[in-house]
Amino acid sequence: MEKIIGSCLCSSVRFECDDVIKHFHLCHCTQCQKATGSAHASNLFTEVNNITWLAGAELIKRYDVPGRSISNAFCGQCGSALPYASLSGKALVIPAGCLDNASSTQPQIHIFYAEKASWYEPALGSTKYNTLPSEE
Ligand SMILES: [Zn+2]
Ligand SMILES: [Zn+2]
Repeated sequence: MEKIIGSCLCSSVRFECDDVIKHFHLCHCTQCQKATGSAHASNLFTEVNNITWLAGAELIKRYDVPGRSISNAFCGQCGSALPYASLSGKALVIPAGCLDNASSTQPQIHIFYAEKASWYEPALGSTKYNTLPSEE
């Protein structure tokens, strides 16, 4: 069984999961924009018990958006997004950006696309550099 591993920005929280992913969604809803500080959340979904915490689980904080099935779990030291059990208790949600290796599953769908940031599609066509470009 292949493993996917992940950690937060300060490396205090570390985990691993079996690479058995049911869904991989990019969510453009306004709550996910707030939670991530970016254009969309990138979430993998797996069985709720498919996680082994290797370090730092006690540091994790969680916020559940009132009235919505959206939560945000993050390292209490560095604020990085981390996996959490969905409110229904049926799924483990893994933010793709906290992974240190790649799942074999690729993103499948964009959801709540009507709520996308006005700058999301223009950003896809903007100039790409491999490093920070020098000032012109
Ligand atoms: Zn951290
Ligand atoms: Zn969302």
